[in-house]
Amino acid sequence: MRKIELIVPPPEPHFVGDGFRVHNFIPGGFRLDMKRMDPFIMLDYNSKFYFPPSDKPRGVSVHPHRGFETVTVAYKGKVAHHDSSGGGGVIGEGDVQWMTAASGVLHKEYHEENFSKEGGDFQMVQLWVNLPAKYKMSKPKYQSISNADIPKVELPNEGGFIEVISGEHGGVKGIADTFSPVHMMNALLEKGSKTEFSFPAHFNTGLLVIEGAINVNGQEMAQADHFVLFENNDTDFTIQANEKSVVLVLSAEPLNEPIAAHGPFVMNTQREIFQAIDDYQKGKFGVLED
Ligand code: MN
Repeated sequence: MRKIELIVPPPEPHFVGDGFRVHNFIPGGFRLDMKRMDPFIMLDYNSKFYFPPSDKPRGVSVHPHRGFETVTVAYKGKVAHHDSSGGGGVIGEGDVQWMTAASGVLHKEYHEENFSKEGGDFQMVQLWVNLPAKYKMSKPKYQSISNADIPKVELPNEGGFIEVISGEHGGVKGIADTFSPVHMMNALLEKGSKTEFSFPAHFNTGLLVIEGAINVNGQEMAQADHFVLFENNDTDFTIQANEKSVVLVLSAEPLNEPIAAHGPFVMNTQREIFQAIDDYQKGKFGVLED
């Protein structure tokens, strides 16, 4: 049985721009640093929060990324994004945006216009998944994944289902392409439903409880908005929903490469960070209006 290493309560929230009220679990949470969570180098969680109506969409203005992927998982509300290659899109409840920043993009992330006008509950996860050194300077790309396209594993006795975003579960392959082995899934469990997961022991593995409350391994309770970190001692663990629950399940093979991080740039060496800053200042990430 894979043991629980610790259960982390949500850190004090802060605002990213004026649209994302987030608890930073990685790398800010107790012991959840980039090396321990490799390749998950950042996890911001906007726990359910009501935004009142606004004529001007709230969000984060133009900023760069290089060297990793940003994965946005929407639970409540809608997010729109625009980038320097002319791309853009909207993701809503249950959708996922998997952006490979790689060699570099400029983008902005805002509440979708109609959602802003009406206001409402907003709940979202943004994860940064590090890229292997050999892919850090590859071409940027997007995978805009609508909920309907995410493969689902039904649980017995109408116990709910698992949405396989990436990796594999119960013989079902996830929809997102990844550059290293990354399992990412949402477990939507009815009250009382119990399910098992199995990932290689050396994969760094954790859970974020989005809704409800779960019992892990029949031993410990984890409430909504808490992060469960597992040890790397074994493969299997179980979760059982004490009430109707939603759980984000993460497990990935560590890259075990040097990490040089500076704000929105995550590379392998300090020299590559200076290069990223220089390229950004010289406009090599493209152009995007605020
Ligand atoms: Mn961004």
